[in-house]
Amino acid sequence: MCCESKRRFLLLYATQKGQAKAIAEEIWQQAGAHGLEADMHCISEMDKYNLETEKDPVVIVISTTGTGDPPDTARKFVKKIQDKTLPPDHFAHLQYGLLGLGDSEYMFFCNGGMTVDRRLQELGAQHFYDTGLADDCVGLELVVDPWIDGLWLALKEALQLQKEKEGMNSAVDAVSSSISTAPHAVHELKLSSEVQNLKLEDEGARASDTLSQKLDDINLVTPARDTEPSLVHSVPPVAQSALNIPALPPEYIEVEFQDTQGENPHLSSLISEGTTFEVPVIKAVQLTREDAIKTALLLELDIADTTFEYQPGDAFCVICPNNVSEVEELLHILGLSEKGDDFVCVKVKQDTKKKGASRPQHIPERSTLKFILAWCLEIRAIPKKAFLRALVECTSDAGEKRRLQELCSRQGASDYTRFIRDSNVCLLDLLHAFPSCRPSLSLLIEHLPKLQARSYSVSSSNLYQPGSLRFVFNVVEFPASPSRPVSRKGVCTGWLAELVAPLLHPNKNSLDTKGKSSLAEKISIFPRPNNAFHLPADPSVPFIMVGPGTGISPFIGFLQHRQKLREQHTDWEFGETWLFFGCRHRDRDYLFKQLQCFLENGALTHLKVCFSRDSSTAEVAPPKYVQDVLRLCAKEVARVLLKERGYFYICGDKKHMADDVSDAVVDILSMEMEADKLEAMKILAMLRETKRYLQDVWS
Ligand code: FAD
Repeated sequence: MCCESKRRFLLLYATQKGQAKAIAEEIWQQAGAHGLEADMHCISEMDKYNLETEKDPVVIVISTTGTGDPPDTARKFVKKIQDKTLPPDHFAHLQYGLLGLGDSEYMFFCNGGMTVDRRLQELGAQHFYDTGLADDCVGLELVVDPWIDGLWLALKEALQLQKEKEGMNSAVDAVSSSISTAPHAVHELKLSSEVQNLKLEDEGARASDTLSQKLDDINLVTPARDTEPSLVHSVPPVAQSALNIPALPPEYIEVEFQDTQGENPHLSSLISEGTTFEVPVIKAVQLTREDAIKTALLLELDIADTTFEYQPGDAFCVICPNNVSEVEELLHILGLSEKGDDFVCVKVKQDTKKKGASRPQHIPERSTLKFILAWCLEIRAIPKKAFLRALVECTSDAGEKRRLQELCSRQGASDYTRFIRDSNVCLLDLLHAFPSCRPSLSLLIEHLPKLQARSYSVSSSNLYQPGSLRFVFNVVEFPASPSRPVSRKGVCTGWLAELVAPLLHPNKNSLDTKGKSSLAEKISIFPRPNNAFHLPADPSVPFIMVGPGTGISPFIGFLQHRQKLREQHTDWEFGETWLFFGCRHRDRDYLFKQLQCFLENGALTHLKVCFSRDSSTAEVAPPKYVQDVLRLCAKEVARVLLKERGYFYICGDKKHMADDVSDAVVDILSMEMEADKLEAMKILAMLRETKRYLQDVWS
């Protein structure tokens, strides 16, 4: 993959959803313009590189998944470098730069990258460039772009150093000359997601891969009367700037319509994570009242005829399609309405300029057009700047063209963040806003990411309900907005809600003798290997569960399991159990009123509930949030955690809830131990480290 005349560096990516890979590809692509050649591999392809003998600088792009875990593709690698028998100078020969991707909405931001970074340091590897930590919550590009721009100078220096070491001071001229156009020394910056670090560097840095466009060459899109910018309108200074726009990504996919018939691939072929199971949904219950702000549904799956296994606390993934009418609309806009059921063959263009181009793994070589749009591509994804750049070429109206150029340019970076990223604009929204834009199917395949399966926590126990699996979810709703004329539902939760609608209002004829539906629709699921979010191995250990809203879901599984264990092992000793639950209204969204049964049969020792929106006539206002109730139980919480070596579990759909709860726990520990806050924080860190303080938080 490397050409002799250019200086090589090793580029590894560890990706979960494709972002790290896309960024690595961007680095790979830019390398050539800097006289460098990136030898790029997925970190899992351990037979294709060898860090033990690597002499060239190494660049690692790595994302984070689950509860701060490295992506699945990095598991083997991480296991290998974590081998405790490795000496501290194991990687002393290695120079590397690492770009971590994460989302600060989740606990353990960028932990995947930080784990690898820390371990490489422990093993003696040297940074040739500061670690960048990019936050998807505010926009990965805010850190990624300047990090990549600074990388070239840092690489040049690293390569020079390496040459000197090798006693070959002869030229890194090719490199130097291309880099010398980049006068900035970004590699000395500490890159983090903080705004003060985000000032973009000089315009010259990407001279080789940008296109400057003079204002007077184009028609302005902004009518004089518009003083406010929007998705489709710009105002000065952006509207009057010469623009630095990214290089046009080379096309590399071609699609060929075929006359033949056949079958679409099985959904399991879309998944690299192991076996999938097609299982019937046998029950659906709406847990919230019609007037609740969110609709929560409980679904029960029949897994009796499968080998699917789970423990309470596990999560699993649901393979879901895009919304049917959005797929139809896209077909219509692409001018392919009549061809939805035709088979297409997807291939790499023979004369593509994209190096190492290959068909994306999530796109079958042969399937119907509808299959690709419904099951393979995340059509709701927020379009990346490279995609906008490519869309410019498919847009005929000059004003629309200019605005798309602005949105992917440096000068329009804050408009991109405001009108695309923060507004969650998707491809369809763009195509409505820019009606002269008519992309090809191959362009969508090149730029839209893989449609990801969605994860759900199991809300049942395999002991209590053998052969079935329950889960609970909120139907996600996105209201209409200025950039989105229609309201939408979440891809997976909207689909599931529609799928099970007949089960929610079944008539007597469609129920079997156990009250389960005979109209069962099937869905495809696969296990999601879980961390430590399981019941304590020793049943005599007490534990505390904090689960507001749908966060209660795994704890129902815990309690069912505990109930069954108590029935089956009357001679065992069982520790006390605490559940803190919160919701808005007692009569609208108290998801599991039958918690009382667990209290009665002893599975649950203490139940604490609070309602954030119910009014109260009590003299002292009742606590509103779970963290408030925890504080009221400070002594007991401290006793369970400190004296009885108990466990603490938090589950929920909001990171700030988990942060508020851990703040409350720190206060409780500090108060009860009469220690300062720092000491209490250390205890909490120790609890996390020993896996006695466990979180399962999603957003
Ligand atoms: P999507 O269409 O994927 O939208 C979800 C998110 O995308 C939104 O929250 C928002 O951030 C963003 N978004 C997309 N489009 C827009 C838009 N137009 N406007 C605004 N924002 C937008 N969920 C549960 O309900 N119950 C569970 O038990 C559960 N367990 C989980 C366990 C794990 C380990 C993980 C990782 C997640 C879990 N989740 C759970 C979350 C779940 O996986 C899904 O993310 C959730 O159900 C939404 O999926 P969706 O496809 O319906 O929504």
